[in-house]
Amino acid sequence: MKYYSTNGQAPYVTLQEAVVKGLAPDKGLFMPETIKLLPASFYENIGSLSFQEIAYTIAHAFFGDDIEKDTLKEIVYDTLNFDTPVVHVTDNIYSLELFHGPTLAFKDVGARFMARLLGYFIRKQGQKDVKVLVATSGDTGSAVANGFLGVEGIHVYVLYPKGKVSRIQESQFTTLGQNITAIEVNGTFDDCQTLVKAAFLDKELNSKLNLTSANSINVARFLPQAFYYFYAYAQLAKQGRANNVVFSVPSGNFGNITAGLIAKRMGLPIRRFIAANNSNDIFYEYLQTGEYNPRPSVQTIANAMDVGDPSNFVRILDLYNKSLSKIKKDISGEWYKDESIKETVKKTYTETGYLLDPHGACGYQALKDGLKPDETGIFLETAHPAKFLEVVEGIVNEKVPVPEKLQKFMKGEKQSVSLGKNFDGFKEYLLS
Ligand SMILES: *Cc1c(COP(=O)(O)O)cnc(C)c1O
Repeated sequence: MKYYSTNGQAPYVTLQEAVVKGLAPDKGLFMPETIKLLPASFYENIGSLSFQEIAYTIAHAFFGDDIEKDTLKEIVYDTLNFDTPVVHVTDNIYSLELFHGPTLAFKDVGARFMARLLGYFIRKQGQKDVKVLVATSGDTGSAVANGFLGVEGIHVYVLYPKGKVSRIQESQFTTLGQNITAIEVNGTFDDCQTLVKAAFLDKELNSKLNLTSANSINVARFLPQAFYYFYAYAQLAKQGRANNVVFSVPSGNFGNITAGLIAKRMGLPIRRFIAANNSNDIFYEYLQTGEYNPRPSVQTIANAMDVGDPSNFVRILDLYNKSLSKIKKDISGEWYKDESIKETVKKTYTETGYLLDPHGACGYQALKDGLKPDETGIFLETAHPAKFLEVVEGIVNEKVPVPEKLQKFMKGEKQSVSLGKNFDGFKEYLLS
């Protein structure tokens, strides 16, 4: 299958080119040329299939032309070595827990899949020594680093702003060793991102090194997120509760929710979606006014959603031919200030015993506020609450148990390289 650019000014490319390049040369995002409708029979017995079986069917619809069956199966099965259970919270509201992977956030799914797919292409091309550069404000770095850990032929450089990520986040990418190097930049997240972008534009670096990015806009990170929408539906179908399903998705760059829209386009019977935001309400405003006004993000306690210009917005426009009325038929929006996010976490914990993280709390509250009695709501619990320990403990006034996986990271020894924010130093380091 070929991939086109949302900007329409670049030639169609193969899957391999789309994965290795990440972004189209006209700065658009890659989209699959066709979104296959799965046969109705697939949905009839979906409740009896495993997560891996379901995911393989979806993966085959997208990547089956480009990767041999056995290899694709191995990539899918190896990526999904953890569960994404649907858990009942209250009334007709369920949590799709996406935090059972290695770094306890949903980004593990896309990052692990991409690492394996890129590894496969690199072996096929006989390449060695590929360098993956990724800038992180916290969560992306850990998922990417852990996703690529031990993948042969690839070395990952995680650039992060010194003193601006939490200790737990930092430990998830600075303690790994092997093919992962953490670079602590004396600057901000924007400085890190500027360094990575400058590296991709530098002619000398690109002639001497094989550089690529593991950015979240990469199709190999984006499309696999559709897997768990199908599996969530399957889990409810098994219980006979899959009527009028509504997905509420805590959104930042809108990659996660767009993968859900693609699942719907493949025929998954989803009634509608809710995009749940924090104070960064650019998309909500777009739905109300039809105007998209990107602006600098504001800081919130759901910080992985602090995005002022969601990169996947163009993919949504593309899917709906830029029609606001069509978009509004499938997606509505909600947004919550820090104060109400806190209230939601506290109240839900007191009343149901379910501990939300600040991102999932936005998704949950949006269902509380907008779900109709004949609908079944699933919110995506995008990270484990212990990843935001200080914030969550401050809200519920209780110690939150830290899962063993997280504790293990925190016990590891920090290894990092310190660099300034000027490009020459970074370039010299990469070439050395
Ligand atoms: C990345 C992230 C989000 C936002 O996901 P998008 O795909 O960027 O919309 C939400 N919650 C958590 C915990 C995240 O890490």
